[in-house]
Amino acid sequence: MLGLMMDMPLTLTMIMRHGERSHAQQEIVSVTADSPRHRYTYAECFRRARQLANVLRSLGASADARIGTLGWNDYRHMELYYAISCSGRVCHTINPRLFDAQIEYIVNHAEDEFLFVDVSFVSKLEAIALNCPGVRGYVVMTDAAHMPATTLPNVHCYETLLASAADTYEWPDLEESTAGGLCYTSGTTGNPKGVLYNHRSAVMMAYAAALPDAANLSAMDGILPIVPMFHVNAWGLPFAGVLVGAKMVFPGPRLSAPDILADLITEEGVTISAGVPTVCLPLLDYAAQTGRSLAPLARFIIGGSACPLSMIEAFRDRHGVKVLHAWGMTEMSPLGTVNADNPKSAALTDSARSEQLLSQGRPLPGVELKITDDDNRDLPWDGQTVGALKVRGLWVCRDYYRLDGAGDAHQADGWFVTGDICSIDPSGFVRITDRAKDVIKSGGEWISSIDLENAAMGHPDVAEAAVIGVPHPKWQERPLLVVVKKAGASIEGKAIIQWLGERVAKWWLPDDVVFVDELPHTATGKLSKLELRKRLADYQLPDVAG
Ligand code: ADP
Repeated sequence: MLGLMMDMPLTLTMIMRHGERSHAQQEIVSVTADSPRHRYTYAECFRRARQLANVLRSLGASADARIGTLGWNDYRHMELYYAISCSGRVCHTINPRLFDAQIEYIVNHAEDEFLFVDVSFVSKLEAIALNCPGVRGYVVMTDAAHMPATTLPNVHCYETLLASAADTYEWPDLEESTAGGLCYTSGTTGNPKGVLYNHRSAVMMAYAAALPDAANLSAMDGILPIVPMFHVNAWGLPFAGVLVGAKMVFPGPRLSAPDILADLITEEGVTISAGVPTVCLPLLDYAAQTGRSLAPLARFIIGGSACPLSMIEAFRDRHGVKVLHAWGMTEMSPLGTVNADNPKSAALTDSARSEQLLSQGRPLPGVELKITDDDNRDLPWDGQTVGALKVRGLWVCRDYYRLDGAGDAHQADGWFVTGDICSIDPSGFVRITDRAKDVIKSGGEWISSIDLENAAMGHPDVAEAAVIGVPHPKWQERPLLVVVKKAGASIEGKAIIQWLGERVAKWWLPDDVVFVDELPHTATGKLSKLELRKRLADYQLPDVAG
């Protein structure tokens, strides 16, 4: 028997309508290239989204066009998110930090019809425009006064187009399975792969992200997404924020300027922020050097790579900020797990508490996890056994968009192979030990590079640390620790090994420590072990080199 409830599709249009009607006066504040502090309301944002939908129509964009964006976190990008998706088209956010050849590849692969580009990325696009013949036009996200001179063909000014567009527009009734967003993974192996989000997945993730044991969002919050809008929809915050009617605060091109971030936090009433660990370090350092408070910031979602304990403690002890350690992937829209307490974990003390804080947390309702061995047999959730992490759920991708060649991440039994290695405890708390391709195999046992890095990052003289496996004739692989010292520090390798000796098993201790001025990072701000391994390709461990 079927139920007799209304069949209302889960669409971003529903979230937008709710925001526009029920939170009309809530503010959206942005730093942009042409304004140090632009502010307006939800009502104005969604009125302009209707104008933008008319612009897309008059430009001649097809009904289900992929529309590319190369933009920072700001109000115009927010308007594009909603106007493109809610008019039935696909908002293809492009990471401008990718190499030109990768951008070219994904623009052509997605068959983007139009590209909306921030002033700061115009010259980047000029370099590749000739190789993207399918792009019918470019729109620079600025006003007439700030329009740059450019060689881009068929180029328009965003504000000029909007000024002549009507603000009445009938949003189409969309099916919830309609594609609304497209984001390519950074493609550390092979070409980038497209993840095609639909309205339903975006809505379900927004609901889950807002839950108390996730980001715990409400209309009383000020949300500052530092994670870029070109990376997995800024972790869904522009949707979850509107769902609850929170104030949105966008750092624009200044997302790595800690002084601007601190200004936004204190002056705009930011209560929650989100970003990868590498963006948090400068903010913490800046606050320590200047003695600035980060009030009213209360929560910080940190994910994308493992958050070191030292960072979790610095936020907690110096600023009273609770770090919500999260794990996810582009393929998961991206939220999979968030570390929020249950009564048992909250009661832990001392080192058990520290271990607990390092967990990536429990799965959000709507995401299912399992760990398996090499023969795809389920492994126990005992907090000890380590295996390959597989997921399925309401906002997990079912297949890649027009994948070139064979993919093996999506299994026939409906599970997605994350490529991560982890243990899960009886309460469902996940502890990621490594990416499968980064795990160090020494004498038949696994050493977790993440745990070693975490321990090294706890040393007061260490700014950043990476651990990779290097070949060893007897042990197969041994860990090598690569360290960036804090400015002015004069620490030696031996002292760091001694420090680690008090924190990890003896056979885990790195065989050597190499100091470098900086570590390579990917386009999403993560440590690039691929590049680091390349840089150290000729390195030999002391006992191997003789
Ligand atoms: P890419 O690295 O290609 O940009 P994603 O941004 O989707 O892709 O990265 C997903 C991966 O990032 C996960 O599979 C995992 O290896 C890593 N990751 C994400 N969050 C965490 C975390 N909190 N701790 C450890 N690893 C994490």
